[in-house]
Amino acid sequence: MSEEDASVARPSSAAQPQTGEPAARVADASGIPATRIHQDALRVVSRLSRNGHEAYLVGGCVRDLLLGRSPKDFDVATAAHPRQIRALFRNARIIGRRFRLAHVVYGDHIVETATFRTKPPQSEDEEDDPLIREDNAFGTAVEDALRRDFTINGLFLDPLSGKILDYVGGLADLEAGVLRTIGDPVVRIAEDPVRILRAIKFATRLGFRIDEATWSAMIEHAPLLTRSAPARVVEEILRLLHSGTSLGAFRMLRACGALAILLPEIDDYLGRRDDPDPAAHDRADQYWRLLEALDSDVHAGRAPSRALALSVVWLRIVEREAERARTGGSHDPGDLYRAAEVVLDRSAASARLPRKDTAIARKMISDQPRFALGAQNNPRTLLFLREPDLPESLNLLRLRVSAWGQGWDVYEGWLASYEQARALPDDEVARLRNKKRRRRRGRGRGAARSGGGEPS
Ligand code: ATP
Ligand code: MG
Repeated sequence: MSEEDASVARPSSAAQPQTGEPAARVADASGIPATRIHQDALRVVSRLSRNGHEAYLVGGCVRDLLLGRSPKDFDVATAAHPRQIRALFRNARIIGRRFRLAHVVYGDHIVETATFRTKPPQSEDEEDDPLIREDNAFGTAVEDALRRDFTINGLFLDPLSGKILDYVGGLADLEAGVLRTIGDPVVRIAEDPVRILRAIKFATRLGFRIDEATWSAMIEHAPLLTRSAPARVVEEILRLLHSGTSLGAFRMLRACGALAILLPEIDDYLGRRDDPDPAAHDRADQYWRLLEALDSDVHAGRAPSRALALSVVWLRIVEREAERARTGGSHDPGDLYRAAEVVLDRSAASARLPRKDTAIARKMISDQPRFALGAQNNPRTLLFLREPDLPESLNLLRLRVSAWGQGWDVYEGWLASYEQARALPDDEVARLRNKKRRRRRGRGRGAARSGGGEPS
């Protein structure tokens, strides 16, 4: 990226900022090869421009292109209103009830095209409440840049002229590797505390340092996360777990106090950092190692399921709960199942985790003691290995083994048995299942004859 004309140039009259608003720093984007920009996004920007509407590529795609990374998606922001976009593109669908934006559809590829937005004016009864509840007023390019979250996400790229427009100091922060809110961090984090999670996501993903003032605001406002929409919070937590940098992200969540607010049981499990007890240190260390194993999976191209990510988060807590519930040194494998039920039901409810995934995570955790016995070649084991979510349980076993660095032979043994069980014809599995059911029923009748197993 070579800078052409720092801090003076203004892009076009439509983007001319109001007095007091920043001017754009315009930089040459010739460092970005045209081939890296998605043709569909280019088409959208071209047609909008040809028809007199200011239009740019915005947000994550500009950031990633400048960093030499592959953007996940290409978003467009424009001065055109949704109905003008609709009039220009037959393949545009207007979506969203409150804030309407257009999806321009090319086969299975969508270019999200949004009209420039501005920060909504605050109503009087909300004056003391910084939380943004609506975000639906149209604005200018500069207003649109200023309402974005971080400077590195606030850059605009005009692919036709090959220029980057920077109203927010994003170019300098990209170069310095700094993550910083646009505007006063105390205000911007309070407006939308989910930005705490987003800051952690971008900082860990890109290896950026979080600017000091932004970090202080994250610490100050972490308690406000309880006021954010749970669905957004859960989505961001799951993103962190799937990022390949979950270890760093969870450490940061803990350091800024967000973990204690969002997942208090995990924070409690990890203990106080200044705890002199070596056992507390080991416990935390084991927890981090499991997250590290999850990250290795991502780097090896094995995208973990949500259930696997959740089981990694909760495994140690469930094991501890089972340990506590155990009486007189008994080691009933059912302990872990019951503990998983208690812990995961409680946390699924309080953190609003997805129920379907927590149910699978519970089974995965409960299956683990069975693996310790080693794979056996009998019908019971074969049926166990044909259970629907068993591959997920094996994935958790693999992560445990790689985290603790022992038990590879056990894992390999189970994997070989799993392959065998999978190769078994379905009718043979059905026959084994029926046989097991008949035997169980027979045992039930026998028990009834001898008094039903009731204590006498
Ligand atoms: P990713 O590569 O993860 O998709 P992204 O930067 O594209 O990263 P998105 O969540 O897709 O992130 O959001 C697109 C853009 O919208 C961001 O780059 C940012 O400019 C803006 N944005 C998203 N969420 C917020 C928010 N909570 N507050 C302000 N601006 C936001
Ligand atoms: Mg995106």
